[in-house]
Amino acid sequence: MNALNKLFNNSESFQEENLKKYIQAGKIAAKVREEIKRAVKEGMPLIEVCETVEGRIRDLGGKPAFPCNVSVNEVAAHYTSPPNDGRRIPEKAIVKIDIGVHVDGYIADTATTVCFSPEYEGMVYAAEKALEAAINIVRPGISISKVSSEIQVAIERYGFKPISNLTGHQIGRYIIHAGKSIPNISHFSLEKIASGCVYAIEPFVTLNDAIGIVKDSPERYIFRLVKYKFAQKQTEIRNLLNFINENFKTLPFAERWLIRGLRREEAYKRAFSELISQKYIMSYPVFIEASLKPVAQAEHTIFVGDKDIIVIT
Ligand code: MN
Ligand code: MN
Repeated sequence: MNALNKLFNNSESFQEENLKKYIQAGKIAAKVREEIKRAVKEGMPLIEVCETVEGRIRDLGGKPAFPCNVSVNEVAAHYTSPPNDGRRIPEKAIVKIDIGVHVDGYIADTATTVCFSPEYEGMVYAAEKALEAAINIVRPGISISKVSSEIQVAIERYGFKPISNLTGHQIGRYIIHAGKSIPNISHFSLEKIASGCVYAIEPFVTLNDAIGIVKDSPERYIFRLVKYKFAQKQTEIRNLLNFINENFKTLPFAERWLIRGLRREEAYKRAFSELISQKYIMSYPVFIEASLKPVAQAEHTIFVGDKDIIVIT
């Protein structure tokens, strides 16, 4: 890596600059995660959790890299509050809070699980221990399948089951899921963890008698721009397309963030559904455990150096 860097002018300092931004994003993400962990309560509106997290990220000098995910019980991932969400955290719930922060496109992705039911605390512990075990063995050059096996073994040691179709992932600038995946179950792969790369590791855990896979729910509250060109003649549609491109680029966003930024609500709503039907915008389905069993999650983002790794969150 160093030898390669020397071939390019300034590339070493350039990489250092990038690392600084990753570390800044990571610090903000970790701080907000610990704050919200203490603040969430049974009965709290989900939209309050989302807006508190996103607001704190902005206060601390970062930007949300994706809408705050608040996934309750059998919901594993990708739930964020739609506008005027009336839902609240139910009693005895197990709640995953997944936070993304970016500084100039450099992303930190981290998650924690808050548990209001003593019977699911073991599952939260297993997710945290599996993440810790993975971080302890990950280093440049190690095979991804080794990291995945470590996660599965740790989860099963506590008597639980990994979710087999949710994975950790490589992170790129302005791209959350870039390149390689890090599955939470043992699998055959020749892929290796590479130095100079950034990865999110995120074990998802469910009960041993669950199916252990997630399926799409019909609900979709997180969106992303996938096409950007000026074939649009209508002013409202063009304005909305510009707004999304300028503010979120290729990062996921919530409909709540459009209302924040645009004034004429009715016009934007028409333009928004038009852009979805013309496939300028894609949407992410909410993921639920297929047997409706509760799910726990833990997640950190790591920067892989030449010899060792830095947990940035
Ligand atoms: Mn995440
Ligand atoms: Mn992630």
